Amino acid sequence: MQIYRLPALSDNYIFLLVDRDRQEAAVVDPAQAEPVLRQLKELDCSLVAIFNTHHHADHVGGNRQLMQHFPDLTVYGGAEDRDRIPGQQVFLKEGDRVSFAERQAEVFFVPGHTRAHIAYYFPPVGDDEPGELFCGDTLFAGGCGRLFEGTPAQMVESLTKLRSLPDKTRLWCAHEYTLKNLKFALTVDGDNRELQTRYRNVELLRKRHQATVPSWLGVEKRTNPFLRWDSEALQTAADSREPVRTFARLRGGKDRF
Ligand code: ZN
Ligand code: FE
Repeated sequence: MQIYRLPALSDNYIFLLVDRDRQEAAVVDPAQAEPVLRQLKELDCSLVAIFNTHHHADHVGGNRQLMQHFPDLTVYGGAEDRDRIPGQQVFLKEGDRVSFAERQAEVFFVPGHTRAHIAYYFPPVGDDEPGELFCGDTLFAGGCGRLFEGTPAQMVESLTKLRSLPDKTRLWCAHEYTLKNLKFALTVDGDNRELQTRYRNVELLRKRHQATVPSWLGVEKRTNPFLRWDSEALQTAADSREPVRTFARLRGGKDRF
């Protein structure tokens, strides 16, 4: 399975998963149809699936047009998103599996950003291979999604699931927010050496207009404040030893940043 990252709108990424043997593709969160259609044409592939993480327009905006081009494709989304995702046919719950390119993705129910949000995780196929996590707007490189429909307790539970995956997992999040996220991270975890180094690297990449997605989950566990509610530094910054309150205060700080 090859993964293509397609920029869309102002700061979204669409991910195209490609099965070269069958000349078939699946798309994660098509914000728009055009970039997907263009890439499919270049690769000479047909589209067999849309994997949506949640109902926001910058994640489902291309659904209808893609369905018109490929009437046989299947549209997947979260069970709780019933009636909110255009064309949705499959309603996924925690622990469900979806297949593509001889691989199976595990579905995680990760409410918080929205009440219905799901993530797709493809475990590694070989010992040296990475896992692939498509997490929409739940976990970002250096940050996490805003809580539009969920509580801090729900988001902590959701992020705990994602945090339990192996370090060698590539995080394919749906927005290029990394630089701003890490700017905030430095205000609450400024003594973290790895975070300082990461910030400088990301700053360089962005100066050259290069993407910072995917990132490694291992790096996120060590430098993303929204996975570090149990670290000493962040508990001090949030003035709380209680995980949900620590997380909520950090998230509130980022909302105002
Ligand atoms: Zn969203
Ligand atoms: Fe989004």
